[in-house]
Amino acid sequence: MVEPLLITPTELRQHHYCPRVVFFERCTPVRRRETILMTHGREKHQTELVRERRRTLSRYELTEGERRYEVRLTNHALGVTGELDLLIVDGARAFPVEFKHTSRLPDPGHKLQLCAYALLVEAELGLLCPHGYWHSSRTRQTHMVLFDTRLRNRTRAAIQVVRGFILAEQCPSPTAQTVKCLECELRNFCGDTL
Ligand code: SF4
Repeated sequence: MVEPLLITPTELRQHHYCPRVVFFERCTPVRRRETILMTHGREKHQTELVRERRRTLSRYELTEGERRYEVRLTNHALGVTGELDLLIVDGARAFPVEFKHTSRLPDPGHKLQLCAYALLVEAELGLLCPHGYWHSSRTRQTHMVLFDTRLRNRTRAAIQVVRGFILAEQCPSPTAQTVKCLECELRNFCGDTL
């Protein structure tokens, strides 16, 4: 039996940034170099996970809950696999948490990523995820992300779009925001953008 194609919640976020980033990674031998900024962000991310173990749940406005770290989940029907930074479980409810080292607010790509984790948790663990949290280790702010019907539908649709062009090995259109291309490590492979 052929294994169904699985994508990651991170790829949903990358796809929102620029669909071609995912295409190059999945369908070509081209790989992005890790920049100094990416390395720094990865190291900060690990530090934040260590610090989180010493904190209370007050920033999530929860009084109790079991914290589960680096939760790896796969659901073939959804077509998604990934490792969640943190899952707070409170009875039949669960709250996915993502950490990012940025001074920006969560953008639609971050919300798609977090919602994909919520769909995974609901499908695999049978828990209900009404909302999740997105924490910036740079600003120390925690944002609540509501998993409403609109975001859930957008997330499911994005999963199908990404799986579709990977399966078809079809290069998607470049980002419409060409300013992103100016500092993109893939610019040399993306001849039709600038
Ligand atoms: S150069 Fe532009 S279109 Fe190409 S992958 Fe980078 S951001 Fe996307």
